[in-house]
Amino acid sequence: MRNTLYIIGLSAFVFSCTSQQNSKKRQYIPRTPATPSKTTAKTPIEKPKSQITTEHGVDFFTTNIADPTKNDNTVSYGSIVSAKPAGYKVVKSYFPAIGQNFRQRYLILHYTALPDDKSITVLSQQGVSAHYLVNNTGDNEIYQLVDENKRAYHAGVSSWRADKNLNDTSIGIEIVNMGYTADASGKKTFAPFDEAQVKKVAALVKDIVTRYQIPATNILAHSDIAPTRKQDPGPLFPWKKLYDEYQIGMWYDEATKQSFYDLASVDFQTKYNDSVFIFNVQTQLQKFGYGLDLSGKWDDMTKKTIEAFQYHFRPQNYDGVLDAETFAILQALVQKYPTK
Ligand SMILES: [Zn+2]
Repeated sequence: MRNTLYIIGLSAFVFSCTSQQNSKKRQYIPRTPATPSKTTAKTPIEKPKSQITTEHGVDFFTTNIADPTKNDNTVSYGSIVSAKPAGYKVVKSYFPAIGQNFRQRYLILHYTALPDDKSITVLSQQGVSAHYLVNNTGDNEIYQLVDENKRAYHAGVSSWRADKNLNDTSIGIEIVNMGYTADASGKKTFAPFDEAQVKKVAALVKDIVTRYQIPATNILAHSDIAPTRKQDPGPLFPWKKLYDEYQIGMWYDEATKQSFYDLASVDFQTKYNDSVFIFNVQTQLQKFGYGLDLSGKWDDMTKKTIEAFQYHFRPQNYDGVLDAETFAILQALVQKYPTK
C-alpha cells in the first residue's frame, strides 16, 4: 500500500511539472490521472522498472522509464552524439528527459540564382551553405550538404518575431533557380519553378516540418527574415499551392481578407500618407513577424518589407507599394496567426 501511494504521489508530481509546459502539443500525458479516484487506487499500477546502476560514484538509469510513444520530444533523428570522457563511460541506455525539444524551429527556403553545377560548387566549397539543395535536373535526388543537427550558413543577419540570427535554429533549403533580372527601371522579372522541382521541395519540407514539429508561422522565405537584403525564393515560388495541396506554411482565408478589404478600401487613399496610418501598417507587419522600425514614414525599409510580404502573399503585385488588397491580406494573416 505504501508503495502504491508513493507511485500515485509521483505520478501527481510528474503531471504538475509537465502541465506547466508552454506547448500543449508537446505536453507529456502520464498514464495515471493527477487526482487518484477510488477506482484508480484499487487498480493495480504497473510500477516503472527503473534500474539504477552506479558507476564511478554516479547513478545512471539503465532502463527507459519514460513513455517515448507519448512524447515526441524524446525522439532523436540521426546519430546521437555523446561525450567520451577519458576513463569514464557515458551510458547510452538512458532516461530520455521529458524536458527537451528540438533546436530546429524554423525552415527557410531560398533560390540559388545559379544553375545546377555552380549551385553545388558554391554551396559546398565556399562560405555559404544550406542543409539541402534541391536540383532542377528532373531526377529524384535531393542533395544533403550539412547535418540537420549542425548550423548551415544560409540565413545571415535575420529575424522573425522575437527571434534573431536564424542560422542557429533553422534548416535551410536551397532551390536551384535563376532568380531575377532587372530592367533599366529596376523592375524585376523572376524565373519560374518547374513543377517536378516544386513537388520535390514540398516532399522535403513536409518531412522536415513534421519531424521537428515546426509550426506554419516558422516556414518562411529568406526574404521574410531579411527583407531589406533578400528576394528569394521570389514571387513565383508557389506558397499557396504548398498550403493548399500539402498543408505547408501560412495562407489567409479569402472571406476574412474580403471583409478587411471592404473596410480598408473606404478611405484608403485619403489616409494613405497619414503617419498614424503608416505607423499602423508597420505595427501590423511587425506583429506578423517582420523586423522593421516603426517610423511612421514610407521609408526604404518599409517599402522593402512590403515587397517581401508581397513576394510571399500577394505575388501578382510586388512593387513594394501598399495597396488595399495587400493591407487586407496582412490583416487577415495577423488575425489568423497571432503572436503567442
Ligand atoms: Zn537566400
